[in-house]
Amino acid sequence: MSRPSILIAGASIAGPALALWLTRYGWDTTIVERAPAFRTGGQNIDIRGAAREVLRRAGLEDAVRAANTGEVGTRFLGAGGAVVAEFPVQKSETAGATAELEILRGDLARIFVDAGDGQTEYLYGDRIVALDDTGTDVVVTLESGTERRFDVVVAADGMRSSTRGLVFADGVSLRPLGMEMTYLTIPRTDADTSWWNWYNEPGGLAVTLRPDRHGTTRAVLSSVIYGDRDEAAGGRRSRDEQKDHLRQQFAHVGWQAPRVLDALDGADDMYFETIGQVKAEQWSRGRVALTGDAAWCASPVSGMGTSLSVVGAYVLAGELAAHVDHRDAFAGYERVMRPYVDQAQRLPPGVPQIANPRTRLGLETFRVALRIASSPVAGKLSGRLFSPPADKIDLPDYAHLEQVASGPW
Ligand SMILES: Cc1cc2nc3c(=O)[nH]c(=O)nc-3n(C[C@H](O)[C@H](O)[C@H](O)COP(=O)(O)OP(=O)(O)OC[C@H]3O[C@@H](n4cnc5c(N)ncnc54)[C@H](O)[C@@H]3O)c2cc1C
Repeated sequence: MSRPSILIAGASIAGPALALWLTRYGWDTTIVERAPAFRTGGQNIDIRGAAREVLRRAGLEDAVRAANTGEVGTRFLGAGGAVVAEFPVQKSETAGATAELEILRGDLARIFVDAGDGQTEYLYGDRIVALDDTGTDVVVTLESGTERRFDVVVAADGMRSSTRGLVFADGVSLRPLGMEMTYLTIPRTDADTSWWNWYNEPGGLAVTLRPDRHGTTRAVLSSVIYGDRDEAAGGRRSRDEQKDHLRQQFAHVGWQAPRVLDALDGADDMYFETIGQVKAEQWSRGRVALTGDAAWCASPVSGMGTSLSVVGAYVLAGELAAHVDHRDAFAGYERVMRPYVDQAQRLPPGVPQIANPRTRLGLETFRVALRIASSPVAGKLSGRLFSPPADKIDLPDYAHLEQVASGPW
């Protein structure tokens, strides 16, 4: 009997995680990634609750722990960088702005790719341009002109997935959250600490700096979009236009903003997006399915994006391997993941604008609230404020599907 085959679009978190599990279950796995090579970029992401359990089952928890960014907690700063309130990392598997398992996106993606031990075929610098679901398989045409057949195709190519667009003409929407974020890596200086330092100015502007384990510092410039939330606004700018835009927007901002603006030209990994959530009525059509941000992007402010991808990949792989018919597999995947995703997408009221006030009075009020929330008396309350529903899922056990170990596990 031939091995079942899958083509996955996207080599970030969801794609390589899905390929890893399916390889263990005896599938032939191929990933097509639009970028010309493995993407190392990205900043601190959290592994929470059930995602941590999935890593344990994959035998990767120690590798992720070893790649921890070393962040000790989150500090909100006021004028001149004075500390307004601080929230140290919590030992809980779900709570806290800084999760106990913090890792850079590129480092986590690399761990999944390496754990695949060369058993997944990677096609870089290419993408799917046509899909023909014949009923018995899917004929895929790649931009390079190659045509191949797979049993199943999965889009794991992010919030703006173009693979999704080839199959889901309707039933999917992108809900803008009214905020733009630009991420870049900057040289580390003695002023940087092991804290996630977060500085706001009126006008909905924020500068944050976070430690990494590569001797550099990860910076984010974020701004609330007032009025027209045109989702595509940020995406339509070129990189140079975005730099000019930021230089104007943050010209008057204090603390470390001038340093981050100075570093824009030297940053080779600058990445910017207008954040939003993907709502899809269904995550599959025929033999094509969605996973990760392409299926349900909850946004960076949910604190759950990567955890959902890790858990979703585990469940989708398990259901595919457990069922002979892909329709049963996709139904099982929806049944297990849908309630988990729905909860993760439910953001606290006012997020993200509440943490990025528009007026000076609003900023002062926010800081008073932070001081109260960080006091020992209110500790429990603040824990709840920063606690996404990361463990609100009954993880199925697919261990019986694993092949006799032939890889690093
Ligand atoms: C370079 C990068 C940096 C990031 N930095 C952060 C960050 O700092 N903080 C944060 O919270 N989140 C960040 N994210 C998003 C974060 O990784 C996701 O929200 C989450 O982990 C879910 O991952 P995903 O694999 O579903 O999607 P994504 O991480 O968005 O990955 C999608 C992948 O698909 C690829 N791709 C896109 N279109 C196509 C196509 N048509 N065909 C083939 N491949 C395609 C992309 O290059 C990317 O590798 C970043 C993503 C990337 C790609």
